[in-house]
Amino acid sequence: MRTGTVTDGCPPWCARDHSAHGPGRPFYHASETRSVTISRPGTPSGPERLDVETAQYLPDDPAETPWTPTVELALHAGGRYRLIGLTPEEARQLAAMLTRAASMPEPARDEYAGLTGTRA
Ligand SMILES: [Zn+2]
Repeated sequence: MRTGTVTDGCPPWCARDHSAHGPGRPFYHASETRSVTISRPGTPSGPERLDVETAQYLPDDPAETPWTPTVELALHAGGRYRLIGLTPEEARQLAAMLTRAASMPEPARDEYAGLTGTRA
C-alpha cells in the first residue's frame, strides 16, 4: 500500500495540484503553461496559440525511475491542437534557433552589427 501525500516527489517546477485527482500517485508532473498568441490577421477560426510547458510522466511501477522531463509544445489551431514533445536539450537548441532567427531582422542588436555599412 502506498502512503504519504500525493505530492510526494514533485519536482520544484511542478505546478499541478495532484490532490484534485483524488488519492493515489500522480502519473505526471507539469509546470505552469505559458502561451504565445499567434497573430494571423484574416484567420477565420480566430487567433492561434502556442502553449509551452514542462512535463514529466511517471511509470506505473514506483520502483522505476521517472522518465526524462519533456518540454511540450501544443499548437492550437482551428479548435484542434498538435502536441510536440522535445527533450530539454532539443528545446534548448530550438530556443537558440528561435532567438537567432528572431534577431536577424535587427542587425544592430547582434553579431550582424559589424556588417552594417562595411560594404565597399
Ligand atoms: Zn507534481
